[in-house]
Order: sequence, then C-alpha cells, then structure tokens
Amino acid sequence: MTVQNRHRIPCPHCGENVRVRKSQGLTPVYREAILECRNEACGFRGKASIELTHTLTPSDMPNPTVELPLVPRLRELAMSQAALAATG
Ligand SMILES: [Zn+2]
Repeated sequence: MTVQNRHRIPCPHCGENVRVRKSQGLTPVYREAILECRNEACGFRGKASIELTHTLTPSDMPNPTVELPLVPRLRELAMSQAALAATG
C-alpha cells in the first residue's frame, strides 16, 4: 500500500497516524479493522468498526440485500420530487 490516504486516523493516545493492519467485512455494510499506531514508542493497537449508515448517491448497480436509507436531506428532496410527479 503506497497510496497516501488523506483521511488519516490519529492514534487516540499519542496522536500519530495509525495504519490499518487488516480489515474484515462482516456484512456488505459493516467492516471491522485492526488499527496499529505507527509510533513505535507508543505501540497502541485497537479494533475499529466501519459501518455504512446512509446513502448519499444511490448506486446504479444496487445490491438487493443492501438497504441504506438516504440521508434525511435527500429523502426530503426525493419526497418533494415524488409529490411534484404526483401532482404534475
Ligand atoms: Zn500511538
């Protein structure tokens, strides 16, 4: 992995960036990861969970087993468009 990820996760103890040692997808929307501090003097390791909670832009190839609610703002937009379509 040489890609520099701009969304860094700091170690909760020393503030150095942590690296993801491994991650395991438990469901299509839920993943657990082992994080390891890059600071050898710190040595912290921890477990993190990454969960997809909402849809920002719906997929054009939706997985029928995945149900992620739209973020509230988009839901309002979709409902107002549905209302317009119903009246128009
Ligand atoms: Zn640390």
